[in-house]
Amino acid sequence: MSLAENSSPSNSRLCTRRDALLRLLAPAAALWAAHPAHAAFAWKLIQEDGRDYVSAQDLQKFYEFPILKREGRHLWFRSHAVIMRWTTATDDIYINNVKFCLSYPVLEKEGRLYISRMDLSKLIDPIIRPTHIQNAVIFDTVVLDPGHGGHDSGAEGVLGLEKTYALDTCFRLKRRLEALGYKIVMTRSTDVFIDRPRRVEIANTTPKAIFVSMHYNAHTRTAHGLETFALAPQGTANTDKALKVSDMTGRRGNERDSENIALATAVHANCLYKLRSVDRGVKRHRFDVLAGIQRPAILVEGGFIDNAMEGARVHKPEFREALADAIAGGIQKFRRALLSAAAGRKPNRVPVRVEPQAKNR
Ligand SMILES: [Zn+2]
Repeated sequence: MSLAENSSPSNSRLCTRRDALLRLLAPAAALWAAHPAHAAFAWKLIQEDGRDYVSAQDLQKFYEFPILKREGRHLWFRSHAVIMRWTTATDDIYINNVKFCLSYPVLEKEGRLYISRMDLSKLIDPIIRPTHIQNAVIFDTVVLDPGHGGHDSGAEGVLGLEKTYALDTCFRLKRRLEALGYKIVMTRSTDVFIDRPRRVEIANTTPKAIFVSMHYNAHTRTAHGLETFALAPQGTANTDKALKVSDMTGRRGNERDSENIALATAVHANCLYKLRSVDRGVKRHRFDVLAGIQRPAILVEGGFIDNAMEGARVHKPEFREALADAIAGGIQKFRRALLSAAAGRKPNRVPVRVEPQAKNR
């Protein structure tokens, strides 16, 4: 579904698509700061299948959405800055027209909708309030990771190979980011094979950095669109997969859960807005490069190169340039959100503020 297709008419009356996307990483913080009493908000939890869930009504109160409206299977939350849509029994939600994959489907019980506490703390809160991300490091370096290389060609496209497109996109991104003042480290800068542990090591030994792994997709020649991955939180399944015992083990990258999802959101939303790509969602996975990295890390799948139309699109240098530009713009937005977080925290040093229960669970 494209951005245009999933924007309802009532949506656009309240908030234009452009506004919505631009606001995505700068919403409720000011509002929140003005209402410190909410720090003590008491969430009423219910249990289902051994998990905690919170109600839409509690969420509305906590984030001060003036409007909460049910329309059939959909539930809309609306404020001046954020429009969020849940759908019963599905694990996709839309925040300002961008698709996110929940770890657990929206639950309906006795006519009320609930979301898992895990999705509240690991997805909704860091997206709606990125300025509340704690202990974030203000980065000045971006580690760019062109996927595959050497004997590992990655996906085979209609007009070229994933490894080639990924490297070319990273070079373009490098130029963009350097122009914005960032330092760049590349895990590879030639057509050479680098194993995944080495890529992780490069990221983990680079201070004040974020990590962006660049890939292109292939599936059945019919799939198309953009997807962005952040590491799955501990105790949740990878998107569209069943929960495994090994999912219960935390990974090193889980230290950065909040930054991971906020970075994925900023980059994904900016790419959708700039490129009008089909939105396949912000997803979760335990790819080795995401799992092992103790820096904010994402993996971007820029399009399906085995699809005739999208493969031809990716093959054009102008597309890869535009994608690089959009990723760079998303990185800038993420950094700005962290900077306002750093600035916003100062007045809160004294008195000590009680953190809301929704955070860091
Ligand atoms: Zn790949």
